[in-house]
Amino acid sequence: MQPSFEALQLSPALITVVHDLGYTQPTPIQIEAIPALLAGRDVIGQSQTGSGKTAAFALPILQRIDVDRRELQALVLCPTRELTAQVGREMRKLGRGHHGLQVIELVGGQPSRPQRDALERGAQIAIGTPGRLLDHLERGVMKPDSIKMLVLDEADRMLDMGFGDDVGEIIRFLPHGRQTALFSATFPSAIEAMSKEVLPEALRITIETPDEDLANIRQLKLCFGDDDKLLALCWALQSQPHGSALVFCNQKATVREITEELSRGGISVDRFDGDLEQFDRDQVLARFRNHSVRVLIATDVAGRGLDVEGLDLVINYDLPEQAEVYLHRIGRTGRAGANGVAISMVQHESDWDIEAIEKFTGHEIEILDHSASKCLSLDDLLKQLAEGPKMETILISGGRKDKVRKGDILGALTGDAGGLSGKDIGKIEIQDKISYVAVSQHVISDAVSCLNAGRIKGKRFRATHVGR
Ligand code: AMP
Repeated sequence: MQPSFEALQLSPALITVVHDLGYTQPTPIQIEAIPALLAGRDVIGQSQTGSGKTAAFALPILQRIDVDRRELQALVLCPTRELTAQVGREMRKLGRGHHGLQVIELVGGQPSRPQRDALERGAQIAIGTPGRLLDHLERGVMKPDSIKMLVLDEADRMLDMGFGDDVGEIIRFLPHGRQTALFSATFPSAIEAMSKEVLPEALRITIETPDEDLANIRQLKLCFGDDDKLLALCWALQSQPHGSALVFCNQKATVREITEELSRGGISVDRFDGDLEQFDRDQVLARFRNHSVRVLIATDVAGRGLDVEGLDLVINYDLPEQAEVYLHRIGRTGRAGANGVAISMVQHESDWDIEAIEKFTGHEIEILDHSASKCLSLDDLLKQLAEGPKMETILISGGRKDKVRKGDILGALTGDAGGLSGKDIGKIEIQDKISYVAVSQHVISDAVSCLNAGRIKGKRFRATHVGR
């Protein structure tokens, strides 16, 4: 029998939160890692994204910190800003019963000042990218003495990105008796060496055979032969009715090109690549998460740290050069027990690169039958793909720090105050200083005016429509 959360020595308060979030059973990595971390052991975990590893370390951290003390007690190192934000979201979600909990995100590419202020105000948990964390430590703004837990998340990726030295430097700042957890999808020799040095006594947890991890994902290949590749992409999109689809390309130029083409065809689409400024990245992802953007065209920047509820289709417009990247890409769908489909576009069924992937995963990829779409013209396909209800996103200049809650925004838009119908309001996402709300396209201007004219929690906030 599968153990329950109750069997993992979690506090009753955390068990309640986990159940409220709809997590009925712990995932394999959680079953192994949570009791070990609660018992104070170092842990090395090999696990894919989507395995529930964030909660596997977040829950023990939440249980082991003392919220009454406003000093830094846990530090989580992540390779990217997106993963930092995602870990932050999960940590706050799981920590919502901890009154007085402060979780701060410290990432590069953003002004240092507000981060320094936040550190000075005090937080129990800091999550961030190595370069910026090291900077705060070296300047003496971040006080490491009270840190008792360190997590290295996606350690392989941190090393790939050249953060190895920074990670080493950060560790030198930390107290000796601290507990450490390292998570990595792969274990190349550099990670083995780091593990031996940093956590020689750790409990090792290996959870995965690729087959099992991919059990919820139907893998298909679309062989387009000499046909136009954009047309073939439309076949792929049409073949699987989807709520949200993520399309991977290897190059930024391709991302731009197909985003433009699909957008001209009336499809709800946007792009996500390394050229976007941080603020735009945040907005694009928020719009994708709340389904204002149904198709996101991305480079591998988005491959990690992107967690979208209900992402049911991943398409490889180009195959990645490494088979491992293939796993990371398709692992964006089929998360936490949901079903997903991954379609790889290949010219011929036995191209060597798709065969290399099949060998790596030990799994033969089925051929997608697209004969039904083949008789439609590109225009007709685009027309069909552009159908369906459309949502738009509003950015509100207030968030958690202003005590804004989902119900406040819903209340401001509906009922006597706003007059809109609840069915026109989509997902609401509250961040620290801002919030996003999705509304039906036909009520967007009414919704923006009503939010700008009214008050939330007695205060006026600015509401703006965020679009492409
Ligand atoms: P991760 O592997 O940490 O990126 O988590 C993947 C997704 O699974 C996240 O959206 C989590 O909120 C969700 N999740 C984590 N643990 C569980 C669980 N035990 N049951 C259901 N969903 C979970």
